[in-house]
Amino acid sequence: MGFALPAQSLERTLSRGRTGGMDRRAFFGTAVAVPDSVRCALEDLIGEPAAGAIDRVRVLEHSTFAKLHGRVSATTRRRRIFLRGSGAEFFADPALVLHEYCHVLLQWEPGALTVGRYLRECLLRGYWNNCYEVQAREFAYRHLSRFRALLTRPGHCQ
Ligand SMILES: [Zn+2]
Repeated sequence: MGFALPAQSLERTLSRGRTGGMDRRAFFGTAVAVPDSVRCALEDLIGEPAAGAIDRVRVLEHSTFAKLHGRVSATTRRRRIFLRGSGAEFFADPALVLHEYCHVLLQWEPGALTVGRYLRECLLRGYWNNCYEVQAREFAYRHLSRFRALLTRPGHCQ
């Protein structure tokens, strides 16, 4: 995730009326379906209460909003993952999926991460060393092999 922009105020601005010829969908991206295998594997890995919010997370591809965040491949807000590229590319990269879902389910969802806190951390420690990025990287690293194994599992979610 890159530096923070206030998505909610932008969403409000865009939905209020004129957007300079760019509609909401083009700006924020197009919602894509989350593959069942990914959803089930995340549920297993993360556990309650965070897993309860998985179905409320929207993944948006080809997002101009994501591209405004510099060179990062994705940025997150509460219950939103905005992708620079396609959903197919994103879901084919398990480490990135774990990283972004960590931001959404373990940081945004409980309120630990806010735009203000993220900006303050970036000012204090920079992008790489801010506590939210450190936690997301560690989460992805710690769970990657199990996540990969869960993704190949045939069957269903409980
Ligand atoms: Zn990140």
